[in-house]
Order: sequence, then C-alpha cells, then structure tokens
Amino acid sequence: MPDHRALRRDEFWRGIPAYEKVSEEEFRTHTFQNRHTVTNPRQLQETLGALAPESFYEDLQAALANAPMAVRISPYLLSLIDWSDPLHDPIRTQFLPLRSQQHHDHPMLQFDSLHEQEDAPVPGLTHRYRDKALFLPQLSCPVYCRFCTRSYAVGNDTPEVEKLTLTANLARWEQAFAYIENQPDLEDIVISGGDSYNLKPDHLQLIGERLLRLPNIRRLRYATKGLCVLPQKILSDHAWTDALTRVVELGRALHKDVVVHTHFNHPNEITGITHDAMNVLTERGIHVRCQTVLQRTVNDDPATITQLVRRLSYVNAHPYYVYMHDMVPGVEDLRTPLSTAQHLEKHVRGATAGFNTPSFVLDAPGGGGKRDVHSPERYDRATGISVFTSPSVKPGKQFLYFDPIASLDDDARERWAITAERRAMIDAALNG
Ligand code: SF4
Repeated sequence: MPDHRALRRDEFWRGIPAYEKVSEEEFRTHTFQNRHTVTNPRQLQETLGALAPESFYEDLQAALANAPMAVRISPYLLSLIDWSDPLHDPIRTQFLPLRSQQHHDHPMLQFDSLHEQEDAPVPGLTHRYRDKALFLPQLSCPVYCRFCTRSYAVGNDTPEVEKLTLTANLARWEQAFAYIENQPDLEDIVISGGDSYNLKPDHLQLIGERLLRLPNIRRLRYATKGLCVLPQKILSDHAWTDALTRVVELGRALHKDVVVHTHFNHPNEITGITHDAMNVLTERGIHVRCQTVLQRTVNDDPATITQLVRRLSYVNAHPYYVYMHDMVPGVEDLRTPLSTAQHLEKHVRGATAGFNTPSFVLDAPGGGGKRDVHSPERYDRATGISVFTSPSVKPGKQFLYFDPIASLDDDARERWAITAERRAMIDAALNG
C-alpha cells in the first residue's frame, strides 16, 4: 500500500501513561478529549509522567515566558507525538515551545502583521477585499497553535501578550450582519476566529443561516482546525455536526456554496480517526479545503510536504494553500525563507493532479493579501528582503517580506543588527 494511504489504526494513545487504560470507544469521544485537554506544564507532566525528562518540562516552562500563545493541546495530538524524541517531533514543535529552540525575532516582526484590525469597520469583521470579509464571532480554539497569525487576539493572555477581547455576543454579530448587508459587493464570508469548533451548534447555525439569507452573500467558509486536532468531535458531537450539515443543506437549497476550511501541517496528523471523521463529512456532501502553514523542521522538505498533499487528497481534504509563516513575533524558529517555499512548490507541482496541488502563497504583511511565492517584484537573497505588489487589493503599494535572520549569512546578520543599515537595506529593496 502506498505510504500516504497507511493511516494509523492502532491504539496509539495507550503509550501515554494517563491514557493507558482508555478504551477506543472513550478516546473517540469529544467529551474525553475536551475533559483531558492539557493547558499548562504541570498538567502535561501529570499526563506524561516519566515519558519526557525533567529537562523537557523546564525547557517548556522557560519558553512560555516569551511565547505569544498559551498552551492548549488535545490528548489526541499529545498521543501522536513521538515521546522518544520530542525535540524533533513535528507535532510537538507546533504546540509546545522550547526555550532551547527559540530564535531572536527579526526586527521587522509585529503583532497583527496582516493589519486585520486596521481594516475592521466593526469589531470582529475585517473587510479588505472588494467581495470578501473575515468574520470573527469569538476568539477561542480547541488547541492553541504556536504559529497562529492572530496571536494578538486568540487564546488566553500570556506574559508577552495581552489579548484582544471579542466574546461570542449576539449584539456584536448583528452589527457585523448589518454591515455585510449594506455592502452589495460583498459575496464571500470567512467565519473564523478563534475556531468554528468552539461555536455552540445553535450559534453556528444562526450565523450560517443569517448570512446565507442575505441576498448579496454567495459563499461561506467555516474555518476550523478541529479536523486536525480533534476529529472526534465530528464523530461524537452530533448536535454540532448536524448544525453544520443543516447550514450546508440550506446553502445547497439556495444555490450557495458552504465549505469548511481547515489546516493540517504534517502527514502524522492524519490518522484513521481523521479518515472516519472526513468520511462523515463526505457522506453529507460537506467539502473541506486545507490551508497548510509552512514551518521550519515541521514540513519544509519536499518528501514531507508531498506526502501531506497526497494524504490530504486521499481523505478528501482538498490541499488548497501552503502559506508562508506570517511575520509574527515569538515563533521565529518556525519561519522559513521565501526561497524554501519556491523550492518546495517546484517539487510538489506534478506529484499529483493539478486540481489537488496547493498554491504556495504568502499573506503580504501590511494587508496586501495572498501573493504567489514566485511573484515577488524583487527578491534579494542576501538581505532576505522580497518585495510584492498587490494591484487589485492596494494599488500602488509595495509589501515587504523578510526572511528569518538565521537563514542569512554573517554579513547580512551584522547589517540587520545596525538600525541605519536596516533602513538602507529596506530603501534599496523598495527603490529597486
Ligand atoms: S486553531 Fe487557528 S485561530 Fe486557533 S490558535 Fe490555531 S491557528 Fe490560531
């Protein structure tokens, strides 16, 4: 059997001391997963016991002092980590920071690097593109990902970041619906957050139905990482899955499009449980698209990203985008240079059918929208600066992406350490 079809069906969670006696039936429920979600190093140590050395917990604790995201990880994900080598495990890398692996931030990084707040006409609604808006009904998630682009807002406060507050609030949502209704050009709404998994079923349905009944709205996308981190919810939270199904069916009846957007980042995240959950959605005619985040040591090699694309296709999650990591602080060890994405794209294209091949893009910092990684106006590999334009989103403006300092040679690193040199490198890039 080709590797990408060999999905884990073993009772892999029984290797974790706290889950040693947990039956398959129990592990496959969202209630077990929610009840045992780990949110701090002490709980992690109680769950894993001696599976990880004392030094691992100390490393984690030290990293959290500088991390923009709080810890939140499901038993499912914890069980998929290879605890014989946690330092190099791709799932551990994405959810549990280690001080020994953190890098200094590039001086040009900033929170809300995509300027979502700047383009928000009402709280929790970003309207940047002519026909599309991003709606954030609430800001919590079933897990917290280190790479989150919305680290300025999502999850609990950390020592580094006091988060924006946007609670699930019907009055605020009505403000957003009224704005959307009064923008005849708007056709497409992304319902994100936070994670749509954390919407109550009746709220998920209310939002979907309310938006679908606006004459101008043609397309809805529910964003959730849930399929990757807690597929059990699709299998056991019938009220939630049925609410989603009802919105999709209403969309179909109104000849409108409702899909789920998710992100898987590594082939190890896709198991037999994922496949079962995806099959439920497939049987109900619910389409899923995947947006992968490119991360150093997680998926930045051709074999891993190709395997991921094939595995996603196998379970009917359409590989749609591979994103460059956004330029947010605190996770510099995860960013890759633009050249890595360009290199990977060449390997992936041709590995499977064209419609199943993701576009490799970066979300242009400062609000330029998605740009193809092969389309910079200029790219100086020595300074690591690439320059993009976005004529349909912000005509006449240039957008800069900066490769991580660690990927540059010694000369360039020294120049980035000097403020006047920084300005000179940026001016040279902008002026071509
Ligand atoms: S699930 Fe999405 S919104 Fe939530 S922390 Fe992860 S990346 Fe951020």
